[in-house]
Amino acid sequence: MLSGSRDTTAGRPWRISAKLLIISSVVTVIGFSAICVNVMLDMRRGEEALARQTLENLATSIDADISRNIEIYDLSLKAVANNMLMPELATVSKPIRHLILFDHATTARHFGAIQVFDADGRLTIDASTLDPQAENRADEDYFRIHRDNPEAGLFISRPMLFRGAYSIVLSRRISDTDGGFLGVVAGSIRFSYFHELFERLNLDPEDTITVLKRDRTIIMRRPFDLDVIGKNLGDRPTWKADNLKVGGSFAGQGPIDDTARLYVRSSGANPLFVVAGKPLGSVFALWQKEALRIGAVVLMLSLFVLGSAIVLAREIARRADAESKLEEMATTDALTGLRNRRKFDSVIEIEWRRAMREKTQVALLMIDADHFKAYNDTFGHQAGDQLLVGIAICISDSVRRAGDCAARYGGEEFAVLLPNTSATDAFKIAETIRAKVLGWSDGGAGSTVSCGIASLAPTAGMDWAILVAAADKALYAAKAGGRNQSVVASLPKLSLVA
Ligand code: GH3
Ligand code: MG
Ligand code: MG
Repeated sequence: MLSGSRDTTAGRPWRISAKLLIISSVVTVIGFSAICVNVMLDMRRGEEALARQTLENLATSIDADISRNIEIYDLSLKAVANNMLMPELATVSKPIRHLILFDHATTARHFGAIQVFDADGRLTIDASTLDPQAENRADEDYFRIHRDNPEAGLFISRPMLFRGAYSIVLSRRISDTDGGFLGVVAGSIRFSYFHELFERLNLDPEDTITVLKRDRTIIMRRPFDLDVIGKNLGDRPTWKADNLKVGGSFAGQGPIDDTARLYVRSSGANPLFVVAGKPLGSVFALWQKEALRIGAVVLMLSLFVLGSAIVLAREIARRADAESKLEEMATTDALTGLRNRRKFDSVIEIEWRRAMREKTQVALLMIDADHFKAYNDTFGHQAGDQLLVGIAICISDSVRRAGDCAARYGGEEFAVLLPNTSATDAFKIAETIRAKVLGWSDGGAGSTVSCGIASLAPTAGMDWAILVAAADKALYAAKAGGRNQSVVASLPKLSLVA
């Protein structure tokens, strides 16, 4: 015999619920998306690191070129400053003096002629001519700084117009052996040097190269803009000395235009330093393309997974619904709507065991239509069916507790299982049913029922067939007693049967 409870636990294959499917799909999609976002952010960091390294290399190589030239030029300035102290210099002719002073002096396309100014700022010697024109530079920054500060060393001026061309002036102090101020030796590096240096590089139009003094004065910038030259960035948070350190970088808006760039400072501690900038748009251009592509694929996959999950979940829900309907149909009597015999058998099995465990009573009513054959013969089979439906309604109206089970036992016979019910209470229910049938059918021919009642507390090893047999016996007694009555099976008899 099949048992409903065994059916639902052991026999049924593992089933996934619609809810679980949706939740697991959403978790999967979220998990994959998180991994994807993480990978893409890693890729972005990689791109940024690569760009930073490239920009640092670029800035450092430009820095090295500029520093080397400044160093070479400075050597010439130092040589002139030293040679100016030779006592013989006053006695020799001008051409010889030129030879002595500027013999080692560097001459290159972008370097201006070296000039010597006396302690009052007057131009006394000029490498480009034996007879320099009268000129006084006492008001220039580079003159005053050397005059006032013996320790100034090499001074690099702000960019200035010098002999018709934009230049930076490099200068050194000429001191006598006691440290007294004798004058200044100065030379210039023209902007053409920077222009030529930057032209050699293969840069995008939006890329920037900025050459700065340590005090954050812009010496030169590419793209070139005269208004920017000489500007001091010392008060800009991202550019000030505390932030843009050697080899440091920052991403954001630059000092001149609105374009956000990755700016990287050259490594090395030279008098001038270089900051190379690249627009963030072009740093991340490839990454953005890739991120969009991967994002679109992941989005499509996610939609596909979620869509499939929804379709599957609907199908699962539909099947579960159909299954429960089927189960309902399989356990219901088609004519009366009561439980069928199969369901009754499985319920009595469960309740019997429960009563055995909990040591409670189980009551059973066996109800049979009286003279039903005659009713059928008189009124026809269909009227007989209607009477059965009517009896079923009277039964289910009287049996309302959750654990109770009213079933069509077979033909015109019904069974009502009443867990945890004494014989007295079961008898009352049987009488209610009987009275209802009587009242409903108005006592018409053959439309009464007889009830057999049994109630007992099962003990170990006892089979529920005993209860059915006892109720059946009581039903026979009711029939024998004249029908349309309820009879309770007597307990002493039951114990004998047991
Ligand atoms: P008693 O009072 O002793 O129970 O007499 P009875 O005629 O009711 O008992 P019997 O067992 O002789 O007859 C039962 C009848 O019930 C036989 C059968 O034709 C009829 N029957 C069984 N199932 C159905 C059914 O589903 N519909 C109808 N209309 N009749 C049924
Ligand atoms: Mg019968
Ligand atoms: Mg009958």
